[in-house]
Amino acid sequence: MAELNAFAMAQQQFDEVADQLGLDDGVRAILRWPLREYHFRIPVRMDDGTIKVFQGFRVQHNDARGPCKGGIRWAANETADTVRALATWMTWKCAVADIPLGGGKGGVVVDPATLSVAEKERLCRGWVDQMWKNIGPRMDVPAPDVGTTPQMMGWMMDEYSKLVGNYTPGVITGKPLGGGGSLGRTEATGFGVIYTVREALKHLGIDPKRTRASIHGFGNVAQYAAIGFIEMLGGQVVCVGCWDRHERRAFTYSKDDGVDPHFLLTITDQYGTIDKDKAAAAGYRIEDADAWISKDVEVLIPAAIEGVLTGETAKAIHPNVKVVAEGANGPTTPEADAILKERGIFNIPDFLCNAGGVTCSYFEGVQNDMNFYWSREEVLAKLDQKMTVAFHAVKDMALSRGVYMRNAAYMVAIDRVVKAMQLRGWV
Ligand code: GLU
Repeated sequence: MAELNAFAMAQQQFDEVADQLGLDDGVRAILRWPLREYHFRIPVRMDDGTIKVFQGFRVQHNDARGPCKGGIRWAANETADTVRALATWMTWKCAVADIPLGGGKGGVVVDPATLSVAEKERLCRGWVDQMWKNIGPRMDVPAPDVGTTPQMMGWMMDEYSKLVGNYTPGVITGKPLGGGGSLGRTEATGFGVIYTVREALKHLGIDPKRTRASIHGFGNVAQYAAIGFIEMLGGQVVCVGCWDRHERRAFTYSKDDGVDPHFLLTITDQYGTIDKDKAAAAGYRIEDADAWISKDVEVLIPAAIEGVLTGETAKAIHPNVKVVAEGANGPTTPEADAILKERGIFNIPDFLCNAGGVTCSYFEGVQNDMNFYWSREEVLAKLDQKMTVAFHAVKDMALSRGVYMRNAAYMVAIDRVVKAMQLRGWV
């Protein structure tokens, strides 16, 4: 993964479709790079009294369709380029989901597991202290991502509200329930993945009850993708794969008669590390990090981090795999894409597949604005409808232009963003 530069990958994907669309040079120049970015240092008083300074980022890629939108990641290996890539993908994600928002992403270079609760709170407030003049419900609305939680969103909303002197829940989404959050937000990304898998299987004429899935990850997205695959589609999940923070390496947790995500949740800590002894005692096989890739399943769901399916690892994909559903952002490199294409595997590209999270974030913002909250059923029904429409828009584009699903998703998204730029007179 060391060789992967996520932003170069995002630009490469964009360039390919820009060529296919014959996009104007000026339009390309706007969309290949973020419109604005902020790099800042966040001083935090640690519990032992010392001051530590953390590197923070916020990248605002494009706001032609509405305020920038996207999560904040806390990761030890965060760089300006990972944040740029993720911000770019958010522009395409909001456009493909057809929600009136643009793309942004934030980051902090930190391993959250190294901080106490109080230090996390101070780092959250410190991030807002640096950025509050450049975010807001009509400007740029952050949310959780890898390494951040609803509680952190609550602290950040509080800090912003204090600084502007007004309760402003709509400045950030993914907030806790009772603190301005929306019902359904926790499960939204994982369930959204499953709505698109359901539509893909229908399109391919495959009975979901006869399918098995292999899932990479066991964080928020993977957990609810696993629950949804079993409970909504009636399929079986043969494994999940995830990071062990004690051993600083990943493992795959397999069970031939199907994993039970509800049980696994009871033995998973707050950072997503599964207790290996308890898993083994319950009959789980603990395998190598990459074992999930070669499982004999119909559906592969990479739902953790970017760059896991590469030109090398994708060769191990089992011949029975029919669908790759990208719950993570950027899990498939362009070299792996070539292998999927050649083997005729149906791809549900990341910014379509995992758009459920930001779509529910949009619903959260709408509820904050009107100060009236929907039931979980209403939220999930609206989410299903948005995801289903988005899936079919991309699938129809793929069929009508004879292109790969990822390129079709780019075409739908770029078209909508360019149209907004034209309507606003930018191009
Ligand atoms: N971090 C999530 C994503 O990558 C959600 C973003 C949001 O809700 O704004 O889509």
